[in-house]
Amino acid sequence: MATTTTSEGSTTLSDVGACKPQETGTAQKRVQTTRFTNAWIVLAGKLVQADLFVREGIILDAAKHFWQASCDKSNTQDVVIDCEDHILAPGFIDIQLNGAYGVDFSDPQHLRDAAKVEETCRSIALHGVTSFYPTVVTVDKPTYSQVMPLLHDLCVGAKEQRKSAVAEMLGIHCEGPFIAVSGAHCDDCINRDDAGKVSSMGYTVSIGCSANVTSLKIVTLAPESVSTQLIQSLVASGVRVSAGHSNATLEQTEQAIGNGVSMVTHMFNAMKAFSHRSPGCIGLLGLAPDRQPFVSVIADGHHVHPCVVNMAWKCLKTTLPASARKDGLTSQTHWHACKFMLISDAISAAGLSRAQAIKVGCMEVRITDNGTRAVLKTDSSVLAGSVTMLDQCVRNLLQFCPDCTIAQAIEAASTIPARAMGVEKQKGQLIPGADADLVLMDRNNLSIVKVWKRGVLVT
Ligand SMILES: [Zn+2]
Repeated sequence: MATTTTSEGSTTLSDVGACKPQETGTAQKRVQTTRFTNAWIVLAGKLVQADLFVREGIILDAAKHFWQASCDKSNTQDVVIDCEDHILAPGFIDIQLNGAYGVDFSDPQHLRDAAKVEETCRSIALHGVTSFYPTVVTVDKPTYSQVMPLLHDLCVGAKEQRKSAVAEMLGIHCEGPFIAVSGAHCDDCINRDDAGKVSSMGYTVSIGCSANVTSLKIVTLAPESVSTQLIQSLVASGVRVSAGHSNATLEQTEQAIGNGVSMVTHMFNAMKAFSHRSPGCIGLLGLAPDRQPFVSVIADGHHVHPCVVNMAWKCLKTTLPASARKDGLTSQTHWHACKFMLISDAISAAGLSRAQAIKVGCMEVRITDNGTRAVLKTDSSVLAGSVTMLDQCVRNLLQFCPDCTIAQAIEAASTIPARAMGVEKQKGQLIPGADADLVLMDRNNLSIVKVWKRGVLVT
């Protein structure tokens, strides 16, 4: 069993089952193995010095690989990549990305430009974001009916084109139309008439789709506005339901969690303000860890005060014994069971140096403060998404939260969202069998050095 060394003693990269000898007489296909060496690897809330082996875009079980290598010389490494003492992290997963580099994922015209979308996904990946959930803001029904099939095709295409070295769309996040607090969403497009009446099929109809949308993976809704049946039926069809843009009380939010709500969308923003007697959804921060849902926070420095980001972080981080872990990865004595997730909530102006006026869905947005802040054209006090990509949010989190380690900040943008979405065996962790979506980060300033998507360098 290959061991690695941490500041807290010995641990292992993987648990290794019985290693079967190579079958003789079987024609073996020669495939290239890449070894990433001289790296600090993010693993279970820590940085550990270890090598990482990748073959055909998948992270290898190092111990098993070495065992086989001793039997079969064709298994030895073909390419060695010296990581020069940098940090090798799992690719980031942005579960709320409205757009970037001039593309608005709520605009059908933008989505029809395949070359532009591909180029945007490449630019997104260069920020370390190797996977994301394109997010549709609340739009009118005709726009939904165009956007949803286009995004569905892009998500399916991303699965089929697994060799493309660009950020991959894992599924659609629909923020709306059943919300109670409009925020920067179009008030006229919010569906208040049907709220409380629709089922999950009714939901897909409400977003302009006659059939169930298999790529729909996240729905943000105001739990106090909808029926219990809608939440339960969405969850039953594999959709993660997130409470957001809501005036729900703490009690209503807890009830919704009991019905299957598993996440909160951009905690603090577009929700009932906190009061010590009536805390609303924000009161979830005070619950025991096993009663807390996954919570997303926009750490761009504008949406939430750094001190409040730190408060949320302190309330949502927790370390549990390995026995509490449900995914079978028991090689660590403890695991970082944090519920804090970073999202960018970025809009199409993100990544563009000179954007001044754009649209998000049907809302007109102005970019202010030297390109760092997005506000509604009609009301500059209302933030309209961010222009900050997720890698900057990781750096901000580390700056805002004195107790947060580098590994924990990185996990808030990778492991935790993967866990929230139930994709942690393929994404967000550098474990055997997972996709080799890798981000090389400078140890001193956490800038992005290089990115690999399924083992292929993003250029
Ligand atoms: Zn929002």
